[in-house]
Amino acid sequence: MPCEAAAHFLILYGSQRGQAQSIAEEICQQAAEHGFTADISCLSKHDKYNLDSESRPVVFVVSTTGDGDPPDTALKFVRKIKNKSLPHDHLSHLRYALLGLGDTNYANFCNGGKTIDSYLQKLGAKHFYATGHADDGTGLEVVVDPWIEGLWDALKKAFSTMSTSDQQTLSDCTQDSNHQNASDQKKNLEVDLQLLKLSEVDSPKGKTVTSDSIATEIGSTSSVASLKESVPPLSESVLNVPALPPSYLEILLVGTENVEETVLPDKDGYFEVPISKAVQLTQDDAVKTAILLELDISQQQEQVYQPGDAFDILCPNRDSEVEELLLKLDLQMQKNCTVQVNLLKNTSKKAAKVPLHIPQNGSLQFILTWCLEIRSTPKKAFLRALVDFTQNASEKRRLLELCSKQGSADYNSFVRDSSVCVLDLLRAFPSCCPPLSLLFEHLPKLQPRAYSAASSSLQHPGKVHLVFNVVEFPARPEHPARKGLCTGWLVDHVSSILEPHGTALASERPGTSALPKVHVRARPSSTFHLPSDPCVPVVMVGPGTGVAPFIGFLQQREKEREANQEATFGEMWLFFGCRHKDKDFLFREELEKFVHNGTLSHLIVCFSRDEPDAAETVNRPTYVQHNLILHAKNLAKILLEDKGCLYVCGDAKNMAKDVNDTLLEIIGNELQLDKLDAMKIVAGLREDKRYLQDIWS
Ligand code: FAD
Ligand code: NAP
Repeated sequence: MPCEAAAHFLILYGSQRGQAQSIAEEICQQAAEHGFTADISCLSKHDKYNLDSESRPVVFVVSTTGDGDPPDTALKFVRKIKNKSLPHDHLSHLRYALLGLGDTNYANFCNGGKTIDSYLQKLGAKHFYATGHADDGTGLEVVVDPWIEGLWDALKKAFSTMSTSDQQTLSDCTQDSNHQNASDQKKNLEVDLQLLKLSEVDSPKGKTVTSDSIATEIGSTSSVASLKESVPPLSESVLNVPALPPSYLEILLVGTENVEETVLPDKDGYFEVPISKAVQLTQDDAVKTAILLELDISQQQEQVYQPGDAFDILCPNRDSEVEELLLKLDLQMQKNCTVQVNLLKNTSKKAAKVPLHIPQNGSLQFILTWCLEIRSTPKKAFLRALVDFTQNASEKRRLLELCSKQGSADYNSFVRDSSVCVLDLLRAFPSCCPPLSLLFEHLPKLQPRAYSAASSSLQHPGKVHLVFNVVEFPARPEHPARKGLCTGWLVDHVSSILEPHGTALASERPGTSALPKVHVRARPSSTFHLPSDPCVPVVMVGPGTGVAPFIGFLQQREKEREANQEATFGEMWLFFGCRHKDKDFLFREELEKFVHNGTLSHLIVCFSRDEPDAAETVNRPTYVQHNLILHAKNLAKILLEDKGCLYVCGDAKNMAKDVNDTLLEIIGNELQLDKLDAMKIVAGLREDKRYLQDIWS
C-alpha cells in the first residue's frame, strides 16, 4: 500500500429498511482489520461527501425498493447524477465498487443499484471491482460475504494502480446474480472472483477456529444434522468465522418511576382506529382463512385514499414470546423498568449511533413488544456475537459452525430457510444468555405490514376495508407451529367481533361492545391506480387475496358510472383464481353484482383444487395464467391496440412470475416475435405504466 492516505476510502449507502446500511457498516468495520480506513455516509447526506472532487475509491451499497426504485434515501443523489447537462466525463476521476441488494422474487431485480451503476458509468466513473448483485430471495450473504472478502484485494489493487493512467478497469465484469439460482450465483461469483485473481485465503478479519480449539463436550455422534447438531465433515472442519462485531450500546435499567407513558410514538404517522367490522370470508374448512376488516377512519383528518393504495398496520410482538424472551434473558423481574440506551464509550464500531427505533425511557416490555422485530432471522454476525455469551462448549461450537464460511449450507437450511428467530436459538442453545445490549444491537426495527385497500371511499365513506389471509407456519424441528406475526395477531385481536362466513358485508354489526383498535397509516401507491382516463380498458389479475385492490377499483368504477350515466367507460376484465368454488371464492356475491350491473365486463374465474366436472376436459384452467392464454387474443388487443392497462396483484414468488411468462408468450405469439423482442414490448408496457404489479412474497 503506497501510504497511509492512500488507504483511505469512502463508503456510501442507500438503504430503505436498514439492510444496505448494516452491510455498509460491516464493510467499514472490517476495513481497519485489512489495513484501511473508511468514512461512511448515507447517500442522502450530501454535505458529507462530494463525488465531483472525490479522489478516494468509493464503495456504494444500494438497496432496491418498490417497483425497482432506488431507496428513498438515494433519490436525490440519483436525480443529481441523472442530470442530462452533466458532461460525459464528469466523474471520470472516480473509481468505485458497487454492491446492489435486491430480491429476484420481484421484477427489476437490484434495479436501485443498477440505476446508480449505469449513471455513474455514463458520467465516466470506473469500476475498481466488479459489481455484486445480492439476492434476498436466496440469501443476501451468498453474494455479500464473498463480495466483501474480495473487496480488500481489489482495493489494494486500486490504490496501487490509481496513479497509473493506463489503469485496467473492470467495467464489463459484473457479478450479476439476476435470474439465477443460489448455486449458479455462487459459481458465477467464484468464477468472477477468480477473474479478479483473488486468492481464497482465510479472511484476515476472522478467526480460524479448529474443531478441537474448543474443548467439546459432545459425546454423541448423531448422523443427522439439525439446528443444534452437525455431522462430518462440518463437525470436523476448521472454521472461518466472521470477526466479532464490536458492541456499541450500553443499556441501563433504572427502576420503574421514570418510565415514559408507553404509547406508540405517532411520529411515524400512525393513528389508532377502531376495527368496526371483521368477517371471515372463507369457509371453516378452506385451506387458508381469509378475513375482511373494516377500519373506521372517519375521525382521521387524512381519510382520503384511492383504490390501489395500501395501509400499514403496526402490530405488537406476541406477549407469550416477549415473556419467554424476558425469561431466557433472566430479565422477567425488570420488565417494567425504564430503559436508557447510550453509546458505549470507546466502542470501536465506526459511526455508531443509538438506533432511532429504540425510544429512551420506554419500559423494557414496551420496547420488546413494539419496537424490535424479535422474529427476524439472526444474521451470521449476530450468531457470532452470541457465541461469547454461551457457556456450553458444544453449543458454542455449533453456533460458530452456523456463522462460519464452511457452515453456510447449514445456516441456510437450519436458520434462514427455517425462519429461525432469536428465541428459537435461545431454546436450542440453553446455555446462551446474551445481554440485552446485544439484542438491541442486532434486532432490526419492527416493521409494519401493508394491506391493500379493498374498498373505495366513494362507496364506504370514512371506512377502509382490508383483506388478509392468516399466515400459518407449521411446526418444524427448529420451532413450534406459529402464525404470521401480524395476521396471527389480527385474528386473535378481532376474535370478539369476528363474524362467520356468509355474513353480508353490508350488514350492521349487532351490539355495541368496545371495538378493538389498531395502529395504521396510509401507504399511498405512486402508480397502482385506475387510469385517469375512464375510457382506457383495464385487465386485472388477482388470485386469492390479490383481488383486494380490484374490489376497490370496481367499487370506484361502479360509483363513477352511477354519477356519469352518459359517459363512456373502458372494459374491465378480472381474472380471479382460488382453490375451491365453495370455500374461498372471495367476494363472490359482490363480483357477480358488478357483472350484473355492467361495472365488470368479464369475470373469469378458475378453481385450482376442485375436481373437474365430468363435462370438463383435462385442460381445464387451474390458474389465472391458463385463463389468460384462453383469452390471449383479447388480452393482446387490449394491451397492444387499445392501449389498455394490465394490473397484477398477489403472490410475487410464483404467480406474478408465471403471469409475466404467460404475458411474454401471448405477446410473442400474437406479434410473431421471439422472446427477447417480446420482453422489449413488455418492458415498454412497464415503462408506460400500463403493466403494473402490486406483489409481495
Ligand atoms: P410474517 O410473520 O411477517 O411472515 C411472513 C413471511 O415471513 C412469510 O411469507 C415467510 O416468508 C416468512 N416467515 C416468517 N416466519 C416463518 C416461518 N416460521 N416459517 C416459514 N416462513 C416464515 N397481504 C394480504 O394478505 N392482503 C393484502 O391486501 C396485502 N397487501 C399488501 C400490500 C403491499 C403493498 C405489500 C407490500 C404487502 C401486502 N400484503 C398483503 C402482505 C402483508 O403485508 C404481509 O406480508 C402478510 O400479511 C404476512 O404478514 P405476517 O406478519 O402475518 O407474517
Ligand atoms: P394464494 O395462496 O396465492 O392462492 C390463490 C390461488 O392461486 C390458489 O388457487 C392457488 O392454487 C393459486 N396459485 C398457486 N400458485 C400459482 C401460480 N404459480 N400461478 C397462479 N396461481 C397460483 O393466495 P393468497 O393466500 O391469497 O396469497 C396471495 C399472496 O399475495 C399473499 O402472499 C399475500 O400476502 C399477497 N398479497 C399481496 C398484495 C400486494 O402486494 N398488494 C395484496 C394482496 C395479497 P394452489 O394453492 O391450489 O396451487
